[in-house]
Amino acid sequence: MDFWESDRLAAHRDAARAWADANVRPEWVEEQQDGGCHQTMALHELLARDGILAAGWPPEYGGSDVDPGFARAVFEEIARRDLHVDGWSTTYMVMHTITHVGTEAQKRRYIPAALRGELLVALGYSEPDSGSDVAAAKTTAVRDGDAWVLNGQKMFTSTAQVCSHVFVLARTNPEAPKHRGLSMFLVPTDAAGYERRPIRTLGGQVTNATFYTGVRVPGSALVGEADAGWSVMRVALTYERGVGGPGTIEKPAMAANLAAWAREARRPDGTSVLDDPLVAERIGRIAVDKEVTRLLGHWVEWDAAKGGVPGIQGTMRKLFFTEAAQRHYSDALDILGAAGILAPGAPGAPAGGKFEYDFRAAVVSTIYGGASEILRDVIAERHLGLPRNRPRR
Ligand SMILES: Cc1cc2nc3c(=O)[nH]c(=O)nc-3n(C[C@H](O)[C@H](O)[C@H](O)COP(=O)(O)OP(=O)(O)OC[C@H]3O[C@@H](n4cnc5c(N)ncnc54)[C@H](O)[C@@H]3O)c2cc1C
Repeated sequence: MDFWESDRLAAHRDAARAWADANVRPEWVEEQQDGGCHQTMALHELLARDGILAAGWPPEYGGSDVDPGFARAVFEEIARRDLHVDGWSTTYMVMHTITHVGTEAQKRRYIPAALRGELLVALGYSEPDSGSDVAAAKTTAVRDGDAWVLNGQKMFTSTAQVCSHVFVLARTNPEAPKHRGLSMFLVPTDAAGYERRPIRTLGGQVTNATFYTGVRVPGSALVGEADAGWSVMRVALTYERGVGGPGTIEKPAMAANLAAWAREARRPDGTSVLDDPLVAERIGRIAVDKEVTRLLGHWVEWDAAKGGVPGIQGTMRKLFFTEAAQRHYSDALDILGAAGILAPGAPGAPAGGKFEYDFRAAVVSTIYGGASEILRDVIAERHLGLPRNRPRR
């Protein structure tokens, strides 16, 4: 497969830039940075209105005839303008999960609503005592007639501020071994007994603790089979790490922005910062990593487009680009010197404080969507066939 950019893709890029020029408002970046919610609903409505959310989906589930290449170029353009669409990323993952494990009725109900921009889903996996070991979830769901009643607490339910649903991992069979007694539910955030409290993080994002006290959902909210939630989670995690995942920290323009600053900035002897060969080398390495990330992304998408579940590829991509981002922003702050720690809004901050902000965002990126240590274990065991480093429980 040829991954070089074709004329067709270049045309999409021009059209996507025009779409963003006409629709994306610069003040949304400030709103996301100040408010911490990485999902702007005004932007989401425009993406739905123009069929961009629905690009590439089958018509029977509400798909549009917008070219998926154009839609991808629009999302890249949005990322280039420093806007996050995390609520859509998580919704996208959950809708793909439903295509794999949902009933026909769920596909027809949830996917078109999501593509119209009316249904937005946050992920309710982590709990105060279980993040990496997510299968240790203590939130319970108990069957009551045709309904289920949920009780428990989730941590880091990101973008729940604006989401209509949370995709909740709950224990439905306390007698079964840890991984076998779990189920997944789509819980509406307007359900009685649901509560949310904000949590501000180092990266600037405001995520949430969510609480479920006697929350009652109908049987149709169960996604996949009862007690088979772990296999549903595995599909969902694949999409989180690979296809629709937390990709916005992967900023394609970062090396170019840094080079532009270094070209203009002067050293004490009057020469350009970019004249320092060590600076040029570091920026060059960043550009290479960006290219590797781009190609890993294509590998994942290619596999998903063929109907596969690109688990290992997605895991490798997430591990690579988040760790690379930490190296890149650390290099950037070294190169920028004191100016590098000027935050958004500070007078004279290079690139409007982008480097400082993204440095902090990169720190937390190796935690969400699976911490790096866990991803290395997955690659070691499932890709390289190395022995497990811990006993089975
Ligand atoms: C900004 C942000 C947004 C998030 N958004 C969401 C969200 O929307 N929904 C959601 O459900 N969760 C979300 N999370 C939670 C995230 O998935 C968890 O924080 C993550 O899985 C790690 O879990 P933990 O915080 O409990 O840390 P722990 O699991 O306690 O891990 C602590 C450290 O120990 C290491 N470690 C743990 N187990 C092992 C092991 N077996 N071998 C080697 N090392 C190990 C980890 O790698 C890590 O370095 C978010 C987190 C952050 C920071």
